[in-house]
Amino acid sequence: YGDYNQKIDYVFKIVLIGDSAVGKSQLLARFARNEFSLDSKATIGVEFQTKTLLVDNRTVKAQIWDTAGQERYRAVTSAYYRGAVGAMLVYDLTKRQSFDHMARWLEELRGHADKNIVIMIIGNKCDLGSLRAVPVEDAQEFAERENLFFMETSALQSTNVESAFMTILTEIYRIIS
Ligand code: GDP
Ligand code: MG
Repeated sequence: YGDYNQKIDYVFKIVLIGDSAVGKSQLLARFARNEFSLDSKATIGVEFQTKTLLVDNRTVKAQIWDTAGQERYRAVTSAYYRGAVGAMLVYDLTKRQSFDHMARWLEELRGHADKNIVIMIIGNKCDLGSLRAVPVEDAQEFAERENLFFMETSALQSTNVESAFMTILTEIYRIIS
């Protein structure tokens, strides 16, 4: 199917941010195309992918932006954040540093994005439980303190990917409708 003849009620722009190699591109590939690659190259070129789905009986086109390998603070331009109504801050739960950087990504985001943006932190690679370096409680605590949504996912095993995107889209819908 396509978007032909389909009435779109809303277009929601969501940005993916977080350190390099945490799995942003694979989360997007899993959500938009149900694909996954273990040897994914550093993201080049592709700006965003879309997926159209129903949220509370409305047709919502999610337009999800992926950083083109600019995963350093201040390298992500304001054009990237412009118009975004949602943001997913992704860390790798086997890499403590990628979680410790969440505060800086959040600061970046709050400096550039709309103040009503819905933010979710994602602890990706939950399939690698034996290598876990970030306790779930640490992330929960951070999310509560900063008033963010939080979920652990695996792009590899498809765990919670759909659910994370649906949660953020539903919350955005709730706010703007
Ligand atoms: P990005 O730089 O944040 O876009 O990260 P990528 O999506 O390119 O992923 C970086 C590496 O982690 C790649 O080798 C992926 O295959 C791998 N990866 C991504 N998501 C997962 C996951 O959920 N589980 C595991 N085990 N590996 C993952
Ligand atoms: Mg990438």
